Amino acid sequence: MLLVGAVLAAAFAPFVYAELMPRLEQHVIVDPTPARIAKGRMFDDYFVVQDLGAGTFAIGEPRYYQQNYSYLIIGTKRALMFDSGSGTRDIGKVVRSLTRLPVTVMVSHLHFDHFGGIGAFDHVAMIDLPQTRADVSNGRLRPGRYAYLGFWDGRSAPATRITEWLSPGAVIDLGGRSLTVLSTPGHTPSSAALFDAADHRLFIGDYVYPTTLYAFLPGASLSAYRQTARQLLATLPGDTILWSAHCCRKGEGVAAPWLTVKDLRDLDRTLMAVQAGRATFTGFYPRRYPVNDQMTLATGFPWNNR
Ligand SMILES: [Zn+2]
Repeated sequence: MLLVGAVLAAAFAPFVYAELMPRLEQHVIVDPTPARIAKGRMFDDYFVVQDLGAGTFAIGEPRYYQQNYSYLIIGTKRALMFDSGSGTRDIGKVVRSLTRLPVTVMVSHLHFDHFGGIGAFDHVAMIDLPQTRADVSNGRLRPGRYAYLGFWDGRSAPATRITEWLSPGAVIDLGGRSLTVLSTPGHTPSSAALFDAADHRLFIGDYVYPTTLYAFLPGASLSAYRQTARQLLATLPGDTILWSAHCCRKGEGVAAPWLTVKDLRDLDRTLMAVQAGRATFTGFYPRRYPVNDQMTLATGFPWNNR
């Protein structure tokens, strides 16, 4: 009986871990002390705004334990907000202080720290995939328990009306600048990124970010990670900056997190070694594989997250 339990736990380790997470990693959701930021300016005592130039702002939540960054990308006719924040505070106030243009929000993926603030927006765009369509009922999209994971913070998933479905490859015209929608599975099956071809910027969400990559939760897939890395490496200009969603870069302090195409190449190499069984790791679950000085890849057992 004990053996059967152990086999089941190992087989469903990503789900078991997700369920146990609130007890395994206890944390304060909002740090009660003032934020110590390295770049940008505080909007209030919670949000930080960092001007990235060319009508692009990073909006961070430095006191929130996930240290999320969302991105406001402004054209001449409309603006796009990539990720809605955690919903811990109303991010809409920050957005309205930065632009008067109509704003459409699109999330990088459905985890609570990116989708939790969706209620602040009237216009919601979503990547058009079978997985995201499957979460719609009665005209509203509501992510499932393991797609949202908000129970970690005791939050239930919002249900939102999608006003615009965007297929992979679709181009969002903001007036004077455009963004291409990319399907970038790996961290989750329906993860999306936005590419600004004119400025060589890729808004990448949680596919990569400095610190530890979560490739061990339900829905994460190493083969999808690899395929996405390959596709990005084959198409991105070499000088593209990848703006990601979780702080912080080593040596930079609390600031909008960024990576380079070289980091993608390092990740691809690590994924290849992990899949070939010739990479060394630390820890039991998740297994932690060093990628480079900015990133660690955390995966499940070899039979999970394939
Ligand atoms: Zn995240």
